[in-house]
Amino acid sequence: MLASRGRAIGIDLGGTKIEGVVLDETLAPIVRRRIPTERERGYEHIVERVAALVAELRPHAPDAPMIGIGTPGSLSARDGRVKNSNTTCLNGRPLQPDLERRLRLSVRLENDANCFALAEAQAGSGRGYPLVFGVILGTGVGGGIVHEGRMWTGPQHIAGEWGHHAVDPAGPTCYCGRCGCVETLLSGPALEQAYRAAGGVTGSAAEIAVRAAAGDATAGTVLARYVDHFGRALANVINILDPDVVVLGGGLSNLDVLYTSGRAAVARHVFNDELRTPIVRHALGDSAGVIGAALLVADPARPLPPC
Ligand SMILES: [Zn+2]
Repeated sequence: MLASRGRAIGIDLGGTKIEGVVLDETLAPIVRRRIPTERERGYEHIVERVAALVAELRPHAPDAPMIGIGTPGSLSARDGRVKNSNTTCLNGRPLQPDLERRLRLSVRLENDANCFALAEAQAGSGRGYPLVFGVILGTGVGGGIVHEGRMWTGPQHIAGEWGHHAVDPAGPTCYCGRCGCVETLLSGPALEQAYRAAGGVTGSAAEIAVRAAAGDATAGTVLARYVDHFGRALANVINILDPDVVVLGGGLSNLDVLYTSGRAAVARHVFNDELRTPIVRHALGDSAGVIGAALLVADPARPLPPC
């Protein structure tokens, strides 16, 4: 926790907006700022945008020794550079040292799903559970593992990346080059595409769920298939990790069906005669990513090689 460290600054570097927060010693946000990323203007511009946001926040935490930054994608365990980011101009770039030079501060960079898991484990729905698996179900599908309040990233820095478990070789092609990844079945765009392919009109995941509840047979069939994929995919994770709790985040975590028939689907697929694992909704909402980024400052995770 931050009690002995004072205030902390966290940045959530997303594809469309950059959010910043200052947490006090009790992990309560005392300042928040949000600016557009303007990623179409390129890598150097994004570095300047982050610097501008940090300059605004810094007076509220002048003694913060480090900035924590969460972003989609991951950091290469080989050279510490960004990869797999949907803000593609970041890929292959030494973002961490570039930011450290620009900010003249230490920077800790992490995957946004890991930040989500860290925040929910320390200050949200996962609080009090020893082993937390945090799940992002949104535009993409990600995950993060937190054990005894500390992020577990693994020697290859891929721990928790369940979104690219290939569960159906005949499934849709994924941007990662494989077919039938969990992300191609459980992301928001995947659900919307499945509904259109089944003959449904365009609609968001929430609208599809409403239509299913109202008796739309196509929506009902597509949502039932989605729920079964959810059960199979999450049961695979639980079979290996057996976490004390699974916390769901991202836009699709608001689908109530995941906590009822979704849970039942996990129970059907898990290698046990019962499912004791709580599967719960996030507590921190959209703020989890940026709060988790601020918490990175106090997380003694495995260091990456220098870029
Ligand atoms: Zn994939």
